[in-house]
Amino acid sequence: MSSLGDDLRDFIDASPSPFHAVTEMARRLGEGGFTELDETDRWRLRPGGQHYVIRDGGSIVAFRVGSSPLADTGIVAVGTHTDSPTFKVRPHHDLTRVGYKLVGVEPYGGMLAHTWVDRELTVAGRLTHPDGTTTLTKLVGTTLRIPSLAIHLDRSVRDGLTLDPQRHLVPVAGLADEPDLLEQLGAPDALGWDLVLADTQPAATTGTDWVAAPRLDNLASCHAATHALLSAPAATHTQVLVANDHEEVGSNSAEGASGSFLEDVLRRLTAATGDTDPQAYLQAIARSRLVSADMAHAVHPNYADRHEPSHTPLLGGGPVVKHNANQRYATDARTEAWFVGRAADVGVPVQHFVTRADLPCGSTIGPLTATRIGIATVDVGNPMLAMHSCRELAAASDVPLMIKAMTACLS
Ligand SMILES: [Zn+2]
Repeated sequence: MSSLGDDLRDFIDASPSPFHAVTEMARRLGEGGFTELDETDRWRLRPGGQHYVIRDGGSIVAFRVGSSPLADTGIVAVGTHTDSPTFKVRPHHDLTRVGYKLVGVEPYGGMLAHTWVDRELTVAGRLTHPDGTTTLTKLVGTTLRIPSLAIHLDRSVRDGLTLDPQRHLVPVAGLADEPDLLEQLGAPDALGWDLVLADTQPAATTGTDWVAAPRLDNLASCHAATHALLSAPAATHTQVLVANDHEEVGSNSAEGASGSFLEDVLRRLTAATGDTDPQAYLQAIARSRLVSADMAHAVHPNYADRHEPSHTPLLGGGPVVKHNANQRYATDARTEAWFVGRAADVGVPVQHFVTRADLPCGSTIGPLTATRIGIATVDVGNPMLAMHSCRELAAASDVPLMIKAMTACLS
């Protein structure tokens, strides 16, 4: 197990919600000399300046200002997303049924629902208090659970398990006299909350080289991008990290990849470094590149027929470049050659992924960001199995490979 694989496990364990993930990224960037900017302030930026800005808690943009004007050298960015499929706690969540206390939740994103049953779950996220402050929170000392139905009570489960999220995926907190969730979080007077379920089992190693963990999609890419920005040497161009919330639900929000966050920061970067020519931002974008990093499907040994036979990435084989003729991925000849070339410069092998012609293709922040701001984009990701399971699987040996490739692109 590489030390970076251990570090990935620490990063995931520290990040049970997008708000925790952004806080952990900001903490690491802070240790590396990055300081926080607020969107409500007027920015004045100097070459070499290292800063980050957080929008609504779950999205972050960090950057190191290049030594040349943005219009002359553009930016190089790595992009990821901070959210993962889960369940979100409802406003009226305090439920009692047949003597039990339950917590009302709503599915968030496309999870593999059966992987959430019979696990010890916690609740994590943020609370907003009557004085207007917002704090991170996580349930400790007790767990929630979504128990299976015994096979004796439904023999039809042998033909396939059907889970209705409204009726069957309601976590049990205990017996009916259990205190309300907000009381257990120490904030009975909270006025608002964004709380999600998370697995309590820490990220682990399995076999000789694999990481078994929740939220590898896409915290593994957030982890790699943070390392890459911290380790890339200062350059003439401006180096950027963007990590958006809400990818798993379509990215349509103020802080999602289809929202204005990255564009707003880049426009301000151009103006705040002293270039007030209205063409400067557009010149900068025309010179810019984005590595959009989201996890990729490794070939599954038990379902190899679900994969395109000539494109079968393996765990441990290095970063995967994702292609789709219908622009579900933004990779094109130029951006592919750029990423593959930079990876080769530092001895990192790459693999290629396309879906079968008879299967629909997933998507990610890459095409959305390219569409929104017009930046040349390559979609990549480390290979993994069990994507969108409560407990996913990736290779520790791929962690340093992606970091090296991203760092080479940023440099
Ligand atoms: Zn993802």
